[in-house]
Amino acid sequence: MTAVADLKRLPSRPIDLPATLELSGIAHSFGGFKVLTDVNFAVPQGQIVGLIGPNGSGKSTCFNIVSGFLRPKAGRVLLSGRDMAADSIQARTRHGLMRTFQTPKVFERMSVLENVMVGLHKDGRSGILASMLRTPTTRREFDRLRNTAEEACRKFALGKFLDAQTGRLPAGQRRVVELARAYVGAPRLLLLDEPSSGLNTEEIGQLRSWIAMLNSEGMTILLVSHDMGLMTIADTVHALYFGEIIASGPMAAIQADPRVREAYLGG
Ligand code: ADP
Ligand code: MG
Repeated sequence: MTAVADLKRLPSRPIDLPATLELSGIAHSFGGFKVLTDVNFAVPQGQIVGLIGPNGSGKSTCFNIVSGFLRPKAGRVLLSGRDMAADSIQARTRHGLMRTFQTPKVFERMSVLENVMVGLHKDGRSGILASMLRTPTTRREFDRLRNTAEEACRKFALGKFLDAQTGRLPAGQRRVVELARAYVGAPRLLLLDEPSSGLNTEEIGQLRSWIAMLNSEGMTILLVSHDMGLMTIADTVHALYFGEIIASGPMAAIQADPRVREAYLGG
């Protein structure tokens, strides 16, 4: 593996940083079934914040509320201080929020390079018609986007796979393609839902390094997972259980917390 595998976590940063994301008083229910009750936490700028909890505890519901796939029954979600209530999923993306999916959503028939280029779509200046006519300007622009995407692929050790069909890559590599695509979009906040699902131990180790790299380059990250091992990468972790945050702090403290232990083992 490249040097990035040896990348150490940066020392914990102070947490009085401005919040990139803030959830306050979030509640949600499906039919009459309460899934989230009064969830409050912030993701300070430049940090990795984890949301952990056993299956069914409401993590994905929370994630879907932040990314705009669900509207909460109560509460507010602020991105860099701005209420996102009225924003569509696309508007949230324009404001710098980007998500990945539990099952990597890559274009399977497209090459790795093409998949990463998709992340640059906001950057393209020419319209669809110009692209179809292939004017010299669009040609130059295409080359510029291609070079940026290629650089990102190399950064994520995907240089060997530029022309490979993405659907043929192992799950771990497809996940890296998704991260490289997110990276070129330069989001303010990256949301990762269960990024280690379907990966083997070695792939999870590499995933950790890529997440640490994104963060060391200044990306703020909300990591949602039931995987306690992966979660040690976070600066702060919030443990969700039956729709409520039952403990918050560094992962070591969370792991030692009797309520969390009971939620995972005996709950
Ligand atoms: P997690 O991601 O922590 O496993 P979820 O947020 O997916 O938890 O689910 C929390 C609870 O909400 C579960 O009991 C689940 O069955 C229920 N739930 C999730 N989505 C829906 C839905 N669309 N309709 C009804 N119930 C749902
Ligand atoms: Mg989930």
